[in-house]
Amino acid sequence: MEILQGVGYVLYFCATKKLKYIDMFKPLDIKENSEKSNVQPSDIEKVKCLIIGSGPAGYTAAIYAARANLSPVMYEGLQPGGQLTTTTEVENFPGYPEGVTGPVMMEDLKAQAARFGTDIRWGMATKADFTGEVHKVWIDESKLIEAETVIIATGATAKYLGLEDEKKYAGGGVSACATCDGFFYRGKDVAVVGGGDTAAEEAMYLAGLCRKVYLIVRRDELRASKVMADRVKKTANVEILWKHQTKGLLGGNGVVEGAVLVKNQGETGEEEVQIKIDGFFLAIGHKPNSDIFKEYIDTDEIGYIKTIPGTSKTNMPGVFACGDVQDPVYRQAVTAAGSGCMAAIDAERYLSEKHS
Ligand code: FAD
Ligand code: NAP
Repeated sequence: MEILQGVGYVLYFCATKKLKYIDMFKPLDIKENSEKSNVQPSDIEKVKCLIIGSGPAGYTAAIYAARANLSPVMYEGLQPGGQLTTTTEVENFPGYPEGVTGPVMMEDLKAQAARFGTDIRWGMATKADFTGEVHKVWIDESKLIEAETVIIATGATAKYLGLEDEKKYAGGGVSACATCDGFFYRGKDVAVVGGGDTAAEEAMYLAGLCRKVYLIVRRDELRASKVMADRVKKTANVEILWKHQTKGLLGGNGVVEGAVLVKNQGETGEEEVQIKIDGFFLAIGHKPNSDIFKEYIDTDEIGYIKTIPGTSKTNMPGVFACGDVQDPVYRQAVTAAGSGCMAAIDAERYLSEKHS
């Protein structure tokens, strides 16, 4: 029911913002709308703790913040429940010995956050101003939240090639997370697209589980660091397909059975190649959903929010970041949840010191 309400909100938001439904799957970049806010005084609300995002990081922050009497207000964004609502089985989150589906796990987290009094709302943060003592965040360009502390838990979005077949076989062999889904392809043949460190790492992880791994690289060299590149080149069951690009996927009943590749695209010797695979993994980068905060919050060159090591603190006092939006390395539900806990504790300590 909650999920259906969420879908309703998404459709409403997309209609009002003139977005196509599929735009949900694009990296969230709403800065272009951020200048249009038209807030009446009655639409201004003061809160102790604002949580932006409702993935494992946001909900865990909410559980801890609510239990610490911070009366957290959470805005769920366009994807209530976050990335895990797009997957089926989650088998590596502690506490579910039989595994759990992503949507059910996120409903559990939501129920736990609500149980302790988190005020969970539909809405999208569309603009931020962290210059003052109190942090300002605009919601859907129509409401202004003035927050003593802000916890940014807006996640990151995996990049896809943009092929129709990626949508056609979503949940049927197409994945952007080998650590999450590799287990389902034990003993099978798979392909990884990309030539960076992530692709090399995912290819080696999959090589430990799968019979054969094709690494589809669009150039004749890897972008990955030398040590990673050497390692992947030396892995016996990884075959690197140099100068190959993916044209489409093959399959039946919504399940991937192969890929159509183009070798030497646009050059002499261009040819079409087919490979038989059961899984098709994207590893061409992620886009952290940090655009609206970048004016005030330090990020790395990709857009991951920088936090002080060992904490969730950003460069702005009272603004904390957790989960995938600040994590270029692990990007797992359990690490997102762990950092959500840190953010709530950091926010609570910040407020205690401020008011002592
Ligand atoms: P997300 O889950 O990305 O949530 C971000 C939230 O922020 C969303 O609710 C979104 O609506 C909201 N948001 C974004 N922008 C705004 C805004 N401007 N205003 C308000 N809200 C906003 N990990 C595992 O550990 N195990 C798995 O089996 C696993 N499987 C996966 C399968 C798939 C297909 C994918 C894509 C990922 C998988 N992962 C898995 C990775 C895991 O989903 C992420 O690491 C985790 O969800 C990150 O949590 P998060 O809370 O940081 O962000
Ligand atoms: P990345 O370094 O940006 O690499 C992306 C790769 O995907 C590149 O090889 C790129 O090809 C390819 N690509 C992009 N778009 C493509 C398309 N449309 N079709 C085919 N290929 C495409 O991203 P990343 O590998 O996720 O790494 C991100 C950052 O995290 C890097 O700084 C990396 O060093 C770091 N990281 C480090 C580790 C580690 O140290 N263990 C692990 C993971 C990530 P081109 O090369 O042709 O551009």
